[in-house]
Amino acid sequence: MKPLKLMSYAEGRWLEPEGALSDIASAVTDEPVAQVGSGARDFAGMLNHARAVGGLALRVMTFHQRARMLKALAEAIMARKEELYELSYETGATRADGWIDIEGGAGTLFAYCSKGRRELPNDTILIDGPVEGLSKRGTFVGQHVLTPLQGCAVHINAFNFPVWGMLEKLAPTLLAGMPAIVKPATASAYVAEAAFRILIEAKVLPDGAVQLIVGPAGNLFDHLTGQDIVSFTGSADTAQKLQRHPVIAREAVRFIAERDSLNAAVLGPDATPDQPEFELFVKEVVREMTAKAGQKCTAIRRALIPAALIDAAEAALKERLAKVVVGNPRDEKTQMGALVSASQRKDVRSQIEKLSREARIVCGDPNKSNGKGAFLEPVLLRCDSPEAAAAVHEVEAFGPVATLMPYNDIADAVRLVNKGNGSLVMSLFTYDPDVTRAVLTGAGAFHGRLLIVDRDCARESTGHGSPLPMLVHGGPGRAGGGEELGGLRGVMHYMQRTALQGSPRMLASVTNSWIKGAPEHRAPPHPFRLKFGELELGKTFISESRTVTLEDIEHFAHFTGDTFYAHMDEEAAAANPFFGGRVAHGYLLLSFAAGLFVDPAPGPVLANYGLDNLRFLKPVKPGDSMRVQLTAKSKTLRKDEYGEVRWAVTITSQNDEVVANYELLTMNAL
Ligand code: NAP
Repeated sequence: MKPLKLMSYAEGRWLEPEGALSDIASAVTDEPVAQVGSGARDFAGMLNHARAVGGLALRVMTFHQRARMLKALAEAIMARKEELYELSYETGATRADGWIDIEGGAGTLFAYCSKGRRELPNDTILIDGPVEGLSKRGTFVGQHVLTPLQGCAVHINAFNFPVWGMLEKLAPTLLAGMPAIVKPATASAYVAEAAFRILIEAKVLPDGAVQLIVGPAGNLFDHLTGQDIVSFTGSADTAQKLQRHPVIAREAVRFIAERDSLNAAVLGPDATPDQPEFELFVKEVVREMTAKAGQKCTAIRRALIPAALIDAAEAALKERLAKVVVGNPRDEKTQMGALVSASQRKDVRSQIEKLSREARIVCGDPNKSNGKGAFLEPVLLRCDSPEAAAAVHEVEAFGPVATLMPYNDIADAVRLVNKGNGSLVMSLFTYDPDVTRAVLTGAGAFHGRLLIVDRDCARESTGHGSPLPMLVHGGPGRAGGGEELGGLRGVMHYMQRTALQGSPRMLASVTNSWIKGAPEHRAPPHPFRLKFGELELGKTFISESRTVTLEDIEHFAHFTGDTFYAHMDEEAAAANPFFGGRVAHGYLLLSFAAGLFVDPAPGPVLANYGLDNLRFLKPVKPGDSMRVQLTAKSKTLRKDEYGEVRWAVTITSQNDEVVANYELLTMNAL
């Protein structure tokens, strides 16, 4: 195959590589697969194009429009995934490794699409948290809101997941409304370039939304501003170098760093070889050592085992590792492919060398070579004095390498785990909640994610090494201190939170969400007569008053079976500290409220969809009366035929005291 000449994509054009070209060799055959030179040159121009063209176009789109765009991108990747698998084999990845990268990447786009459609408004502003009352009379209120940063997101990615690594950053960035410049790692840039090409050819992204730098990033950092953001994934060394760039400090550029970490798996003291958690631990350590040939930032590097069980665990691990078939990733029988390059293998060997000064190799020969390709056997080490050791807690061998170490008790295990100085993930194999609690309180602060594997969840567990779009990925300290993904948390990294202060009228109309104190539109018709598009926020209905009688309470109690003493037994209810006598059921009040506010004839209101934030604030006694106010608070388009209306509902007593309030959701025809 003729080597691919990898191109950059800048300001809407593909750029041929220029200058001296260097080869990227196949991890399997050593033959050149691709060539890279310096394609992109005008980095200031790229940043300006992103800010002025891409950002502008993205910011006028609503979250829902951007979410639909992500779905179209995911579909484009899935439709052409076989092209990517073909290239992915050349990086040493098996089909299973490629699945994590390619389909996992598309899955992340799909997940962010659905989060965006379900959890974000069809708007360009995101409300963050409740309205804060700031004044006695309620004419001055506060509300946190988020708007997209107006710069460019610079994504610098590691080599190990060229597709997922790109898409897991692009999904939250584009959903937030920010354009991106992607700089993939050179070693696997041919896969990233191909995936990027699919995104462009899908023709769903506005011009300037994404650009690609294959090759060096030149003086890109010199042109960053406080509206830009750098999201870096890679080694601690590179992260520190980039973070020290004077512009990062001067302009207070947000810098998210996802670095390496010495992730641990801990076998609980209860997980003896006769317990299912022992076998689960052994399986997971082997899986983490061999998936993607151990080139995962989340892979298990340190396996901590109760001292009394370490010999048994070592024997079980060796037995399993001996069965791992290492070879050509295209071969279906192969369980572990190659490292990404010969230089990566050299690096891993030198790291093993450092580790073996404190630990002995108990399985695998790091120097075995089968001729062509960057293959390496899985290497298991054992360190019997981990308390006194340093390298085993510090040196990352980014390959199929892990070190076993014994611990004496949970406090000891926690101390050893924390010697990693901050990790992306830790897994614990135990069936004992007390062990989990002790580990969480002792080591939680050092970890971004804690997976507890036991017999109940093992079958469905997504495993130690898999970051998930809905959960935070990142860890403190050595792991970089960054956070990615985590559902909408990941989107907010690309937005600015602003504390908005003003009158309810102003804030309600700016945020498209009615606030108490903002104008209420009480004139007929009844709000249930208005279609989704006709319904104005603030449209209000105030009901007649209804007296709640003892007969009502008893009728409801017998009808529903809810004969709780507070409704039925005067003496017992009087002794209750909240009621001082019999009171109406909260659910009776809700039912009466519905009876008071509905307009019954068929119309645009299609369905009651649920209640949010319900609070019963004052008891209602026999003889009290109630009335309801229903106000249209916000609207979200859900489908082409209907949208969701959120209503603020307040039930008040004859003394104008608030008895209950809640938000009612209905689906309304357009
Ligand atoms: P790396 O050598 O640190 O490179 C990471 C990225 O930085 C690459 O795209 C690289 O581009 C780029 N880079 C290097 N110098 C640069 C500069 N001066 N200006 C701009 N960009 C620059 O890491 P890697 O070898 O690709 O990845 C392996 C490491 O990443 C491991 O340590 C692993 O633990 C870590 N990792 C962490 C995570 C996480 O989420 N925490 C995920 C995956 C991997 P070139 O390739 O062109 O040099």
